[in-house]
Amino acid sequence: MSEPLTCDVVVVGAGMTGAACALYAARAGLAVTVVDRGPVAGGTTGAGEGNLLVSDKAPGPELELALLSNRLWAQVAQELGRPVEYEAKGGLVVAENPETLDGLRRFADTQRAAGVTADPVPADRLHDLEPRLAPGLAGGVRYPQDAQVMPALAAAHLLRASGARLLTGREVTRVLRTADGAVRGVRTDRGDLHAPAVVNAAGTWGGELAARAGVSLPVLPRRGFVLVTEPLPPRVRHKVYAADYVADVASDSAALQTSPVVEGTAAGPVLIGASRERVGFDRSLSLPAVRALAAGATRLFPFLSGVRALRAYAGFRPYLPDHLPAIGPDPRAPGLFHACGHEGAGIGLATGTGLLIAQALTGGTPELDLTPFRPDRFPRTTKEAEQ
Ligand SMILES: Cc1cc2nc3c(=O)[nH]c(=O)nc-3n(C[C@H](O)[C@H](O)[C@H](O)COP(=O)(O)OP(=O)(O)OC[C@H]3O[C@@H](n4cnc5c(N)ncnc54)[C@H](O)[C@@H]3O)c2cc1C
Repeated sequence: MSEPLTCDVVVVGAGMTGAACALYAARAGLAVTVVDRGPVAGGTTGAGEGNLLVSDKAPGPELELALLSNRLWAQVAQELGRPVEYEAKGGLVVAENPETLDGLRRFADTQRAAGVTADPVPADRLHDLEPRLAPGLAGGVRYPQDAQVMPALAAAHLLRASGARLLTGREVTRVLRTADGAVRGVRTDRGDLHAPAVVNAAGTWGGELAARAGVSLPVLPRRGFVLVTEPLPPRVRHKVYAADYVADVASDSAALQTSPVVEGTAAGPVLIGASRERVGFDRSLSLPAVRALAAGATRLFPFLSGVRALRAYAGFRPYLPDHLPAIGPDPRAPGLFHACGHEGAGIGLATGTGLLIAQALTGGTPELDLTPFRPDRFPRTTKEAEQ
């Protein structure tokens, strides 16, 4: 039998988060191996949109991470150039009536105090920014810091730029630990990989991977559909969404929610997202969900009623009960680091997460306080309590 491979850190997951962790860990001088049971971006990264948003986040740790990440995305995009389809297009959030506009403006005031640029847009200026918007909207707020990438391409190009060793088609079946509990690598279905550090970037399956290391992390799936139109000439300039979207993102409800989010892409199709519902890993197409998406989008942009939808796809956002990701070292398993549970913001938050993980891996002072993201912040399971 061949010798197990050795390196400084094994990253489990070749999605957007794993790719960003690999990039920043390699730049910090570590020898990185990335392992995935499928292909690159075969998980949620290949099944969602690529909005890099600060606009939908309330002041707090997630917004701080988004601000850091958006700064890093701008740098990474400059280094990698066109292939990641980065567009600093800005976001436009619109309100359909005066009450919603009032709430949106108050929300923007709190964000401004936290470092977000948020410019009020009166009703009679909305069409200067988005000529094809529906008439009769009450007004909006423009967020110049919002941007966009193409997630699958971004993950692939970040991985390539990292220079990490990439092993696809290999499932991590166990995180190996020494007698005193320290991590010493992973067991895969095709041999062991030895390393003193393992990063759990397994997305929606981060809870399963944590269990394979002997710790608990309650990551669960929140399903979302995206409708993809036929390719069009550029008609939607910003990432445009209705103010209700922010409430849907933060909601704890299991029921279907579909506030419209509309964005053009460099390749031409318009993406219409995104539904949210908790139905486990059920992949079957939900007509009520995609119908509601189409109806909401045509309310914002009436021209879309004459445009064909070519396909719809589904993905599973990885969420934790308090809607914050798990980022950082796991005190229950020295050498295990988590970078998962980013819910509907994992593309946007990937760069900041990658940098924070690299800083934690190398013993540096993380750019942000990791306390709110601690992986052991949830109640212990009965099994853990007995140990
Ligand atoms: C409809 C929809 C729209 C979205 N829109 C946006 C958006 O606009 N902006 C945004 O920022 N986010 C968005 N998201 C969320 C975003 O897609 C996710 O947060 C992000 O992709 C998570 O990336 P990840 O790398 O953590 O996980 P994934 O991409 O799921 O990667 C995890 C990888 O781990 C691998 N893996 C798991 N277990 C193992 C194992 N045991 N061994 C080996 N490999 C393993 C999987 O194969 C997978 O490739 C959206 C999501 C959906 C569903």
